Order: sequence, then C-alpha cells, then structure tokens
Amino acid sequence: MRIGFFGGTFNPIHIGHLRSCVDVYETFMLDKIIFIPTGIPPHKNKDIVDAEYRYEMVKLAADEISFFDVSRIEIDTKNVNYTIDTFNKLSKIYNKDELFYIVGTDAFLSIDTWKEYKQLLKYMTFIIMKRPEYDLSNIFIKYKNMIEFKNADETKIYPAYKNTAYIDKLPAFDVSSSNIRKRIREGKNIMYLTPNSVINFIKAKGLYKNG
Ligand code: ATP
Repeated sequence: MRIGFFGGTFNPIHIGHLRSCVDVYETFMLDKIIFIPTGIPPHKNKDIVDAEYRYEMVKLAADEISFFDVSRIEIDTKNVNYTIDTFNKLSKIYNKDELFYIVGTDAFLSIDTWKEYKQLLKYMTFIIMKRPEYDLSNIFIKYKNMIEFKNADETKIYPAYKNTAYIDKLPAFDVSSSNIRKRIREGKNIMYLTPNSVINFIKAKGLYKNG
C-alpha cells in the first residue's frame, strides 16, 4: 500500500490540512492518509489544548472521509515526540508498504531544527504542500545539497524513493490553526474553516476562548 503520514499539532485541525490532503491523496495515488497528532510537540508549547481534545477533533474530521485515518502513535508516547522516533516505529510496522511523509512548506523549511534531521532527509520520502506566505525557493536554497526535489507534475509516477521530496503542485488555502484560535478569542465565526463536527466539539468543550 502507498500510505501518507501527516503529523501536526492540529490545534485545531482545519480545511487547510484536510483539503490539501485530499489533493495529495489524488495526485500521488495514495491508498490512505494517516493523521498523526503530536502528544507533546517539541517546537510549540503555547496555547495548546489537551492532546486528547486535539485527537478527538482530528478523528471527527477524518471519520468523514473513507481514506483518512488517525494514529495515536505519538499521543500515546508520554515523552516529547520527535519525528525520527515516530519514523523508526512506523518503518517497522509498515515494512511492506510505500511510506510518504506529508509536510507544509513552513514545517519543511524548519526541518533543520528537528532531532537527527539529516537522517530524516536521507531516509524519508516527503510530499511538500505549498502554503501561502512561505516561499518554496527558500527550501530549495537551504536543502538543495541534502535531498532531491521533484515537482509533482514532472512525472506521473511517484515511487517512495528515499532522500526525495515531491513538491505538490496545488495552491494551498490561507488558513491556520492560530488564525482560528484568534477568531474564537475575538468571538468571530469560524464556519467553513473546519468541519461542523469540529466546530461543535470546540463549542461544547469551550476551547480556545482564553489564551
Ligand atoms: P499554527 O497556526 O498553530 O502554527 P498550523 O495551522 O500551522 O498551526 P499545524 O498543526 O502546526 O497547523 O500543521 C501541521 C502540518 O500542516 C504542517 O506540516 C503545516 O505546514 C501543515 N499546514 C498547516 N496549515 C496548512 C495549510 N493551510 N495548507 C497546507 N498545509 C498546512
């Protein structure tokens, strides 16, 4: 199987994550995409709601789409989550499958702050999704000697080659979790920025009102 893994804080999940993943699923002919909410993320610690809440919201959103799934692999690790550890675990579990790691431009740009990032670049296959406000050329400049970049429209087949980053061709939505949290704090509407099931969950639990 061709499986895409998509890690994130998902605080909360939004249509930028979801719609981009639908595009990635189609373009790269994946069989499924597994969302991996982080338990304790190493890079972000402000304004983060409980991991179980974030997991629940991802689950509500993913349950609406047959080819989306959610993993507890990081949530159930009580230490700080490092991608290299998750990658090593997933490679053992899915040792017969083709694995792809989906990241936004901003996340890939700062990959040199991740633990053992050179190993990640050497052994993983990335799919990079564009994000407004983040210039892809910065990624090429920074990592050009460390990983091979391929544009998604250059070829019609996308093997899970190690040390390769495919660039998704579709434009991204200008939505972020921080913007959604800000809108909630300001008492503004978040309709259509995330599925209704997630909006109802946020309301029921009173999330993001302070912070
Ligand atoms: P915050 O605003 O709190 O920083 P975020 O919206 O960036 O959060 P994360 O959960 O941190 O969301 O992101 C998880 C992954 O999704 C990252 O790889 C990030 O680059 C990517 N991503 C986030 N928003 C979008 C978007 N609108 N389009 C494409 N990718 C996105």
